[in-house]
Amino acid sequence: MSLKDGLMQLLQVQEVDLELRSLEEAKSEYPSEITQRQAEIERAEGSLKELTERLAESERGQRHYERELEEAKDQLKKLEARFSEVKTNREYDALQIEVEAAKAKMSEYESQILELIESSEKTREQVDLEKVDADEVRQDQQTHIDDLQAKLDSIQGEVDSIQTRRAKAAKGLEPSLLRQYETVKRLRGLTVAAVRKGSCGSCYRQLPAQMKSIVRRAQEVIICESCGAIIVWDDESA
Ligand SMILES: [Zn+2]
Repeated sequence: MSLKDGLMQLLQVQEVDLELRSLEEAKSEYPSEITQRQAEIERAEGSLKELTERLAESERGQRHYERELEEAKDQLKKLEARFSEVKTNREYDALQIEVEAAKAKMSEYESQILELIESSEKTREQVDLEKVDADEVRQDQQTHIDDLQAKLDSIQGEVDSIQTRRAKAAKGLEPSLLRQYETVKRLRGLTVAAVRKGSCGSCYRQLPAQMKSIVRRAQEVIICESCGAIIVWDDESA
């Protein structure tokens, strides 16, 4: 195979490689998008969990003060029963003070209970709203995640088939030329660039006349000094 044919074939190999690269790029972006969307679901569920815990805490507090209130009521009954046994004014006054203290405790517990009932109600409303929100977020994000996952799965199939095409495109190429293509240190742009208007088709740097003529006659492999591409002459070169 002539060098000219080899270089033309390299252009075709590159075409397949560019397709492959853009697929690989998409493939590498999908997982991070999936992770992002999963984080959205976790955020919504985390905020629901936090509210649910707050509600449980305030309900626990309510039960605690209800028990305390019951105990204080029993205590008050016992104290009031002792009035019948009181013999002196001093005993009466002392008992009266205990009764007042028990009543004060009861009213303190009652107001705690009321406060907690109110805050539980508010939190319960928030929990209901947050549940709807979390459901929506979960459904919406999961739809996207499933979609991305399906794309990801089918991309692998496409990648496999392009790799088969790549192997076909590279078949029969001079191994040293293919190796050169695969290891060329391009600084930017294309690996193989066809000449356009006397310039490198990748970085558009004007080629010296001498170099242009070597490329046209495919005498040797010419590398663009500016971008590192292998420069070739195809049907549209001028
Ligand atoms: Zn160039």
